[in-house]
Amino acid sequence: MSSPNSTKGLHVITWGCQMNVYDSARMTDVLAPLGYRPVESPDAADMVILNTCHIRDRAAEKVFSELGRLRLVKRERADQGRDTVIAVAGCVAQAEGEEITRRAPYVDIVLGPQTYHRLPEMVARAARAGGKVIETDFPAEQKFDFLPEAITAQAVPGASAAAPGLTAFLTVQEGCDKFCSFCVVPYTRGAESSRPVASVLAEARHLVARGAREITLLGQNVNAYHGTGPDGSDWSLARLAHALAEIDGLWRIRYTTSHPRDMDDDLIAAHRDLPQLMPFLHLPVQSGSDRMLSAMNRGHTADAYRRLVDRLRAARPDLALSSDFIVGHPGETEADFEATLQLVRDIGFAQAFSFKYSPRPGTPAAGAPLRVAEFVADQRLQALQALLREQQAAFNADCVGRRAEVLFTGPGRHPGQIAGRTPWLQPIHVEGGESLIGARALVDIRAAATNSVSGALIGGARIAPSQTSEVDCLQPALEDHRA
Ligand code: SAM
Ligand code: SF4
Repeated sequence: MSSPNSTKGLHVITWGCQMNVYDSARMTDVLAPLGYRPVESPDAADMVILNTCHIRDRAAEKVFSELGRLRLVKRERADQGRDTVIAVAGCVAQAEGEEITRRAPYVDIVLGPQTYHRLPEMVARAARAGGKVIETDFPAEQKFDFLPEAITAQAVPGASAAAPGLTAFLTVQEGCDKFCSFCVVPYTRGAESSRPVASVLAEARHLVARGAREITLLGQNVNAYHGTGPDGSDWSLARLAHALAEIDGLWRIRYTTSHPRDMDDDLIAAHRDLPQLMPFLHLPVQSGSDRMLSAMNRGHTADAYRRLVDRLRAARPDLALSSDFIVGHPGETEADFEATLQLVRDIGFAQAFSFKYSPRPGTPAAGAPLRVAEFVADQRLQALQALLREQQAAFNADCVGRRAEVLFTGPGRHPGQIAGRTPWLQPIHVEGGESLIGARALVDIRAAATNSVSGALIGGARIAPSQTSEVDCLQPALEDHRA
């Protein structure tokens, strides 16, 4: 193996949600002192990490098929006298454990999501012993206390290589105690825990000092955040958002993913009171049928969700809503599915993710009777997605004529264009110079497509850093889509 101080290539392949994107960046950070630097291809990598997701589909099979490819890379590099450490991290690693090294003996390290702060030690152990290192326990120590400052820019969707750190993720909460019938998260990510306030604020200040202007707070149940504050009391997500809003240079705050049961009055009020809190909320509901919501163990009814949305919209009339849906959960009837379509029509979503139920081993729903036939689930998914696409296009069309503050993150698709995000998380393109990348400016939205909008800068207006977020057209955009 190469000496500890020489530069070594690190290639990380990430599946899954934003939390995995964040984790991959932090694993890169924790390996930097050992000389590891990101490289584009596994062929050039002395270490390859597969950061996996177990939430849906044939997650483990995808990992084993990628491992098959890496086995060849490892063999070719070995022929050239070069070692390759292969590590499998994330939720598949947590769920499969030793099964991974049994089926793929060329894997050196298997580590769960709660142990990646120990990666340097695991690399050293793997090198010394030439054996396997498997760490899938839930250690007593908090990994965040042992991680270096975040330095690696995350591959944030929508951010551009021209300004990689402008938008950043920051994990504030992990794990889940809710045990929805279909979900592996409580088993793979462990019990719910929140990072202390001081650690979150320090990381946010650090990200802002490195150029971040928009931070998305992450957690499997981010609005259940209850980190210990400097005064020893538990802080809510709303209180944390207020403290973050005081950081000079942090223009935008978002958070995801929220559970309807944890949406408290303070957080709703924060949407009214904090201009930095963007008017976009991902609030998964999964189903519009009370029978299914109960079978899923979601702990709320469809009407409770409707009332919650009413309160949110009363606080922030231009709030754009997004959600997750599952069709074909065991026991779902045609009437249940119709109730989901009705809820979608009632609420009007700006965007949403919808999935066909996928049995996860070890979860209660996986053993439940009354499985929905594949072709029925497929038909339901298509019908739901068609409705959601229609609503997304309608939401974008409703934005035409609005004036919005845009954070520009990179060049646009065509020469002379720049791209950014609206407050409602839509990708937006305008004619403009690249000097605006990293700045925010007011834009008149002039045209809409299903997935994006385009517009024109208002007299080249750049918003000075001291100005707060200013959007002068706050129409309740979704009212029209209510049935
Ligand atoms: N904590 C979030 C919540 O409660 O809404 C969700 C987190 S989960 C990582 C993201 C989404 O994946 C879920 O909202 C759900 O729609 C989907 N999902 C989770 N397990 C699934 C399964 N077994 N089959 C299909 N979709 C699933
Ligand atoms: Fe999974 Fe439910 Fe927890 Fe969300 S709330 S992470 S869906 S168990």
